[in-house]
Amino acid sequence: MKRNYSVEELKVLDQKHFLHPTSPVKTENGPAFIFTEGKGVYLYDITGKKVIDGMSSLWNVNIGHGRTELGEVAKEQMDKLAFSSCFATFSNEPAILLAKKLAELAPGDLNTTFFTSGGSESNDSAYKLARHYWILKGETSRKKIISRSRSYHGVAIGATSATGLKGFRDFTNSNAPDFLFVDHFSIQALRDLIETEGPETIAAFITEPVQGAGGVHVAPDNYFKEIREICNEYGILMITDEVITGFGRTGKFFAMEHFNVVPDMMCFAKGVTSGYAQLGGVMISEKIHQEFSELSEGTILHGYTYSGHPMACAVGLKNIEIIEKDNLVANAEIRGQELLAGLKVLQAKYPFIVDARGLGLMAGIEISYEGKLLAPQIVTEAAKLGLICRSVVLDAQDIVVFSPPLSISQKELRDLLDILEKAIQEVENQVL
Ligand code: PLP
Repeated sequence: MKRNYSVEELKVLDQKHFLHPTSPVKTENGPAFIFTEGKGVYLYDITGKKVIDGMSSLWNVNIGHGRTELGEVAKEQMDKLAFSSCFATFSNEPAILLAKKLAELAPGDLNTTFFTSGGSESNDSAYKLARHYWILKGETSRKKIISRSRSYHGVAIGATSATGLKGFRDFTNSNAPDFLFVDHFSIQALRDLIETEGPETIAAFITEPVQGAGGVHVAPDNYFKEIREICNEYGILMITDEVITGFGRTGKFFAMEHFNVVPDMMCFAKGVTSGYAQLGGVMISEKIHQEFSELSEGTILHGYTYSGHPMACAVGLKNIEIIEKDNLVANAEIRGQELLAGLKVLQAKYPFIVDARGLGLMAGIEISYEGKLLAPQIVTEAAKLGLICRSVVLDAQDIVVFSPPLSISQKELRDLLDILEKAIQEVENQVL
């Protein structure tokens, strides 16, 4: 493709006109990468540099880059019907068929989907639907949403207000009321909080099955079973945020399958289209759906213009077909075990790596070195060497996280680990 601007000119234009999401405002040289192409686990930038996308970009490109089938489906759907409304009961075929497919895939009786355009909207929708549910049930004091420390639920005002990573909440000096937090693994703390606040004031508890942006924290065995029991005991709705963990990421289609727990509501986004289109949603249980139908006299006054977007839903259907056809969930489980084993080898070799953990293709190494942060340096060195991974330093942590495409091969995974080790050695040489 002929280019109208040089790389340097594009960088200057970027700095001048593009306020980047979740990025430092000040940069010396503008964007770290200007990507132009993707193929499988690889991304290529404008200078021709090839890197392994060890994060599936934002934990979302589950099937890998460059799957042209999705573009074909998107074009076909756009040519036929690019958009039509889903308000006022209007519908379209891809939305109906995707909702049906999701009901088949989701655990338990999560059979009905409210569509959104992404994870933050899905979580906000879940809080609003949960609170509306309690209004319909006549329990109007149930408004509060309990979330966990180190959780990440997105950046819409409700999603941020439920985000346990304090830095995100402190970005503004006012957040939404009626959001509470508990220690991320303490069952007793949850029980105490419910008792102190009064169960009759709590609408829902929200949790990621594996905390992602907070540093890949995998809950202890039985944690979610006990959470489910507490929610049942106090009549609190349990919402799971499977925005990262859904669609095969952890080696099961949805991560809650590892724990045999069925929530009342489940939020999803990212992997539903592998990032090829903007789509998310919240699934609700058959029971809640039935109660909505029986108790609601009016209209669900909650809906996004793009709820049930025909093109995005068509892409979602094709993406799920690829996940199934290519056995990507099973691959995530096998490659995930290899990734974790590789990270544990590094932990045994480098004393400043104090933990290596993960579930499926979601993994991290935790670092502790004399109060110095090493994770950001490792990430910088890895990028130079051809691997994109991400550091988590919020809440006084020093962690490098990984989340490669579910399509990654054994050889590509070995390359990922080799580059990571070189980056670690480089930082070791600089710092120690
Ligand atoms: N929930 C979780 C667990 C996430 O990791 C994210 C994004 O990373 C979100 C919600 C927000 O999703 P989005 O950025 O699509 O709004």
